[in-house]
Amino acid sequence: MRRVYCIGRNYAAHAVEMGHDPDREPPFFFQKNPNNLDSTGEFPYPRHSSDVHHEVELLVALKSGGPNISIDKALNHVWGYAISLDMTRRDLQGEAKKLGRPWEIGKAFERSGPVGPLNAADKIGHLSQGRIALKVYGALKQEGDLNQMIRKVPEMISYLSEYFELKAGDVIMSGTPSGVGAVARGDMMEATIDGLGSLVVKVV
Ligand code: MN
Repeated sequence: MRRVYCIGRNYAAHAVEMGHDPDREPPFFFQKNPNNLDSTGEFPYPRHSSDVHHEVELLVALKSGGPNISIDKALNHVWGYAISLDMTRRDLQGEAKKLGRPWEIGKAFERSGPVGPLNAADKIGHLSQGRIALKVYGALKQEGDLNQMIRKVPEMISYLSEYFELKAGDVIMSGTPSGVGAVARGDMMEATIDGLGSLVVKVV
C-alpha cells in the first residue's frame, strides 16, 4: 500500500444528510495513512471521541499510474476492488470543519480503515453498479448503489492524476452512501458490495 486517497461527499444522499448541497459543492479528496488500513476484522474504538461513525466504501486498488491519465484509459490502471470502511471520529471532524482545519484528527487515526480481501478485476470485472450496504447487528443502516457515485471511478483516477503522480499500490476509497451513524463497543458491522461478498468487523 502506497497512498490512500479518500473522496468526500461522493453520493448525493450522503452529502445532503451531512448538511451540504451536492449541486453547489462538488466532491473533494483527503487522505488516510497507508498503515491505517486494517484487515484483522476488529476495529478498536479510538480515544478522544464519543461519536465514531461507520462509512462503507468501495476501495479501488491501482496496479500502475502516472500523471494525466485520461478518463477512458483510467480503468487500465485498476488492479482490483475491496470492501472498506472509512471509520470517522465525527465529533473531531465536525470541530475541524467548523474551524477550517484539516481532517486528519477525524479520519486518519489508528486502524481507521478496516478492509476486506482484494478481488482482481481480471477475475470479477470492473464495478460500476451494484448494491453497497452496511448493517449493524443485522439492522440495515446504509444502502446505496455504486452507480450513484457523483464522480465515477475512472473520473476519480483521472482527476487525482492531474494533481498527484499515481502509482501501483495507491488505493482510492470512493465515498459512502447515506445512512452513516455511530457505533459502540461490541457492535458487529457487516458491509456488503455486490460482487465482493461481505466484510464483518467487530468494534472492540
Ligand atoms: Mn468516507
